Amino acid sequence: MLLRNLIFWLSTKKRVTDAIARRGMRHGFARRFIAGESLGEALAASAELGRAGRRVSLNHLGENLRTAEEAERARDSYIGMVRELDAAGLDGDVSIKLTQLGLDLDRNLCRSLAMEIAAVAAGLGRTIEVDMEGTAYTDATLDIFEALRQRFDNAGLAIQAYLFRSEKDIERLAPLRPKIRLVKGAYREPAKLAIQKKSDVNANYRRLLDRLLDGRFFPAIATHDPAMLDYARQQLAARGFTDSQYEFQMIFGVRRDLQQQLREQGHPLRIYVPFGTEWCPYFMRRLSERPANCWFVLRNLLAESSR
Ligand SMILES: Cc1cc2nc3c(=O)[nH]c(=O)nc-3n(C[C@H](O)[C@H](O)[C@H](O)COP(=O)(O)OP(=O)(O)OC[C@H]3O[C@@H](n4cnc5c(N)ncnc54)[C@H](O)[C@@H]3O)c2cc1C
Repeated sequence: MLLRNLIFWLSTKKRVTDAIARRGMRHGFARRFIAGESLGEALAASAELGRAGRRVSLNHLGENLRTAEEAERARDSYIGMVRELDAAGLDGDVSIKLTQLGLDLDRNLCRSLAMEIAAVAAGLGRTIEVDMEGTAYTDATLDIFEALRQRFDNAGLAIQAYLFRSEKDIERLAPLRPKIRLVKGAYREPAKLAIQKKSDVNANYRRLLDRLLDGRFFPAIATHDPAMLDYARQQLAARGFTDSQYEFQMIFGVRRDLQQQLREQGHPLRIYVPFGTEWCPYFMRRLSERPANCWFVLRNLLAESSR
């Protein structure tokens, strides 16, 4: 736990992330979790995933944006991604973070930029997914998602099982019959807002999944936890879900064995594909989720330096 927290804390320190960023792509260790720095590389990775029967959701990495111009550039980038996915005939959508669209600067600007992306995606018959960030943004994210969903039926939202509030949030969204991506939650949150014990988070994941399987949602079951996957498969079979009524989701480079297993069993699977030059904080969050990954990074650095 200590190591997890240390890595997570380091991921917020710019000098550390800059130093890692200078080496990561060159040494190749970041490529395990990041599809590349350019959209071209992300599309190539997506095409390969497509050939292996996976859908994708592209995420252009970027955090801590400072100006409205940067938010507008992020909008342009997402619109470009949707168009390129479409032009390449790939089975994919985009995952957006509202802080990348200026949520910290101006909520109205953020909402209207998200609407513009959703409108272009809808025109091409494609979906968009909204990531859920830290609790400082939960209310605003729900409000903006509701507004999006009232205008477009092609938007989905991530909900975090570690938050006490999530069951209520799911009920609030139910009348919109949305796509909900159920995740455990990736941020460090205080005990008054979030369940701290892993087994309790897992119990809540199962409880929320039951809600999402009651016919009012399109459930996207986003986890690499074999126990959660078993539970989901059992429930999907017991409730007679067909493969157009749900999907599993996993992160690029994580538990590729389970990704393969789900596909072999015939389950629809979407891979969250992050790319971009601002990959370091994201990369470090993946390390903090599983400190064993640090050995993987170290091995790569050592192998490189002994060549
Ligand atoms: C498609 C997708 C989208 C997501 N979107 C969001 C979001 O919008 N907001 C948010 O807060 N969180 C998001 N997450 C992250 C999520 O909240 C968890 O932090 C993350 O998925 C780890 O939880 P887990 O369910 O895989 O279970 P865990 O119990 O954490 O892990 C289960 C097993 O998965 C493997 N594993 C997990 N993480 C890693 C890793 N980094 N490297 C290698 N193995 C690993 C290990 O074998 C581990 O034992 C997303 C996750 C996925 C899969």
